[in-house]
Amino acid sequence: MLKDLRVYNTLTKQKELFEPINPPYVGMYVCGPTVYNDVHIGNMRTFLSFDVIYRYLLFLDYKVRFVRNITDVGHLERDADDGEDKIAKKAKLENLEPMEIVQRYTLGFREVADQLNMLSPNIEPCATGHIVEQINLTAKLLEKGLAYEVNGSVYFDVSKYNEDHNYGVLSGRIIEDLIAGNRDLDAQDEKRNKIDFALWKKATPSHIMRWDSPWGKGFPGWHLECTVMSTKYLGNSFDIHGGGMDLKFPHHECEIAQSVGATGQQPAKYWMHTNMLTVNGQKMSKSLGNSFLPAQLFTGDHPLLEEAYSPMTVRFFILQSHYSSTLDFSNEALKAAKKGYKKLINGLKVLRSLDYCEEPETVPNKKVIDQVNQLCDNCYRAMNDDFNTALTIGHLFNLLKKINSLHTQNLKYAELGEEVFDRMKRTYRTFVVDVLGLKEEQPDVLMGLTQSLIDIYKEAKRNKEFDTVDKIRADFKSQGLIIKDMKNDISWAYEE
Ligand code: AMP
Ligand code: ZN
Repeated sequence: MLKDLRVYNTLTKQKELFEPINPPYVGMYVCGPTVYNDVHIGNMRTFLSFDVIYRYLLFLDYKVRFVRNITDVGHLERDADDGEDKIAKKAKLENLEPMEIVQRYTLGFREVADQLNMLSPNIEPCATGHIVEQINLTAKLLEKGLAYEVNGSVYFDVSKYNEDHNYGVLSGRIIEDLIAGNRDLDAQDEKRNKIDFALWKKATPSHIMRWDSPWGKGFPGWHLECTVMSTKYLGNSFDIHGGGMDLKFPHHECEIAQSVGATGQQPAKYWMHTNMLTVNGQKMSKSLGNSFLPAQLFTGDHPLLEEAYSPMTVRFFILQSHYSSTLDFSNEALKAAKKGYKKLINGLKVLRSLDYCEEPETVPNKKVIDQVNQLCDNCYRAMNDDFNTALTIGHLFNLLKKINSLHTQNLKYAELGEEVFDRMKRTYRTFVVDVLGLKEEQPDVLMGLTQSLIDIYKEAKRNKEFDTVDKIRADFKSQGLIIKDMKNDISWAYEE
């Protein structure tokens, strides 16, 4: 069952059994951020979804090489072949060197990724570090007659490519429709056809990011960088290529055309696309002005936010829906996520306090044993079903009910038996911590101090010092914590 993973492949438009090209190795490439601005929480939804995919593949014991690039040149405004480079534009605006902009926003992105407890990719290449490779690929496509040079720029000839291949294989676009919809070439347009795209662009005198090339001073096209960096580190054909679904066309369609044109091979076996984070049904985007920065969410500093939401609450909020569904941003949904997250983490705390002990009077209860085994299997099943984090969380909540029953002694350890108890403990912990990547947000030192206060509380209670008891209770409450006074134990938990 462990390796029975099924993945929705955008290329074939169906769920397929995941069979890596060269097991146990898995090559995964995810289009990274264009570092000209702070990433918003919509961008992070996509990156976080692939973080969980990466985590689950590792959990299944695959040896994953995860490459996520940094786009630091070539991404022009409107994703088109004209307009300014996003990074150069920002640099001019702020009177900075473009690489200062790149540095600032790359560090900002990594900081947010860290706050959201995302694992680092194995390689994080940037486009400006691969100019030579991009020039070489452009030259190769020219040599193959699939590109043409005009005036110091080189364009990919989509119609020529389409004579032997299928441009539109990923996005379902029909080339005739694309041509019909783009018939009007601007007077200054030098492309043979509007749907052709730039591999290399001549730098105008005002364009500050420029490199020497056989075609004069210029800079690479956006689609080219991902083809070059993915195949350099993962080979001409690798397992997974991912990104947000807005990248399907033209970005990924063009990547396929470049790769197939150059090598005759499909670059990726499985294409995976995440759906969008929306605000009132509209895609969250920098240009629409409806985006929230992670820092605004974490501090609550935004007129539309009713309170601050911690990084783990935001992580939980994102994982509560399947990556291929849209997810709408709202205070209500975030508040529910806050409760859900605390509930799961309280479960971890309870689990830590549970120690198996034999109870000679009690006999194994087959019904409960079957239920717990079933719940553990369900966690795997849900993740194996195209990484369904939403369903996985539901199963974990059901498993948590059993854990809480053990804690309240409504369920006896011996009813489960040691083996099933251990499996339950391992499954819950592994899925919450390793697969979903949720962690306790309190620093260890505070955890220690909180426990010391609980010890003082116990002592005060024993001595009937009710003023102290009440004060500690009230202080805990004001910090969002509750004291659980139970017959057999006194402990604390996050207030859900
Ligand atoms: P960008 O920096 O704009 O190139 O975007 C980086 C990644 O974020 C890409 O994979 C986009 O598809 C993704 N993305 C952009 N907006 C959203 C959104 N609202 N929801 C989810 N992913 C998004
Ligand atoms: Zn890309």
